Amino acid sequence: MTVTINAQNTKWEKVLASLESKIERHVYDGFFSETKLVELNGDEIVIFSPSAPMLNQFLNYQPTYKDILSSIISSVFAKNYQIKIVGDTTTTTSTTTTINTNNNNYQYFANCKINPRYTFENFVTGECNKEAMKASLMVATSPSALYNPLFIYSKAGLGKTHLLHAIGNYYQEKNPGAKVLYITTDAFIDEFVKYVHGHQDTQSLKEFFNTVDLLLVDDIQFLADKEKTSEHFFYIFNALVNNGKQIILTSDRHPKDIRGLEDRLVSRFNMGLSVQIFKPDTETLLNILKRKIILQGLEVKNYDENGLLFLAETFSRNVRELEGALNRLLFHTVSLGGDEKVTFEDIKEAVRIILPKSDKNSNVLTEELIIKEVSEYYNISQEQILSKVRTAQIALARRIAMYLCRFLIGSSYPKIGEIFDRDHSTVITGVEKVENELKTDNQLIKAISDLKKRLKK
Ligand code: ADP
Ligand code: MG
Repeated sequence: MTVTINAQNTKWEKVLASLESKIERHVYDGFFSETKLVELNGDEIVIFSPSAPMLNQFLNYQPTYKDILSSIISSVFAKNYQIKIVGDTTTTTSTTTTINTNNNNYQYFANCKINPRYTFENFVTGECNKEAMKASLMVATSPSALYNPLFIYSKAGLGKTHLLHAIGNYYQEKNPGAKVLYITTDAFIDEFVKYVHGHQDTQSLKEFFNTVDLLLVDDIQFLADKEKTSEHFFYIFNALVNNGKQIILTSDRHPKDIRGLEDRLVSRFNMGLSVQIFKPDTETLLNILKRKIILQGLEVKNYDENGLLFLAETFSRNVRELEGALNRLLFHTVSLGGDEKVTFEDIKEAVRIILPKSDKNSNVLTEELIIKEVSEYYNISQEQILSKVRTAQIALARRIAMYLCRFLIGSSYPKIGEIFDRDHSTVITGVEKVENELKTDNQLIKAISDLKKRLKK
């Protein structure tokens, strides 16, 4: 047995050696050098990586590397395998929280620190941010080789600052001796203004920047109309880029759209790569919620799935807002024991006072409005929906109305029963039927999605 494992380990070393010769040094060092073979399990090859989530993300976004790895594995092991990357789940949380960011004890910008919780592992990706994630991963593993500067822009609360810190955390972890500096543009302006007014020489501040290996600047749009500070920034920017140091900038808009930003800065910022983060879709928001629940050490399964969906759909403007809603929920449910369920009603109650205006005011969604909309959609009368008539179309509309009452506004089964004049077990059966049919019935999926849209207007 030991012999077999040893033999396989030797083969894994061969895989690594071959990989090392085929891909770029920084990619190999950043992602593969610490991998180990765990086991061969049927058609699956299980590989351990101390940063498994990162490696998984990387392989998803860089299929070329996955192809290279697969083909080396199949030639060394003489068989095609599905690759599965695993991490040490027992230590994942602690490694994330104990990352040593060598946190800013520099002589300047004392208040600008890198947040160890903002890591790549904690950043949930979807269509909206995958470009930004990919570019961030690339500059973190391969600074200054690809795009300099990397410019990340989006509306507020969509994860720019998080990604900036994640790059800093990752880079610092891989290069413990390096000097990583995270600053906000406001802090940059303040620091310079302080020296100008204090009649001190800005030279030493500029020299300080010369010692920085990786510069992360948040919210660069605030440099607009700041002529004097822009000049200093231009100088620092050029010095760093000329020395092969990576700069990553964020902004609430594309460089060309920042009014009042000097042309020469705009053109410098355009030298590298600009990536945008878009508004997340519901699925990504739901995944973010779940990830944040797990990070709190709580169990996602204790939270009503439709309640979480309600949060993701209601607080969908940006992630910060969604986090605010989740924080309220956690605050409200803090007294619940570890395994107690958090119901849809709990969730709705927790966020009631922070519901967006349109949900709180006159057009707040009610069971009556749902019934009205569904009857119009199916071209039947409200009386028919509420009646005992069982023709297929009417029964379907009735079930859908019950389902929407349950999952759009969290009405309790007894309450729906009362409105439809049925006992609550009949309501449960009807709602469950819709849930089941939704798994396969495309027409029903479309009807529900149409109705949700109409009800949200
Ligand atoms: P921005 O800088 O774009 O205004 P932030 O980076 O401050 O936004 O993000 C706001 C909050 O939302 C942060 O707490 C951040 O961790 C969280 N967040 C944003 N996007 C994501 C994501 N994709 N995955 C996990 N958390 C996210
Ligand atoms: Mg920010």
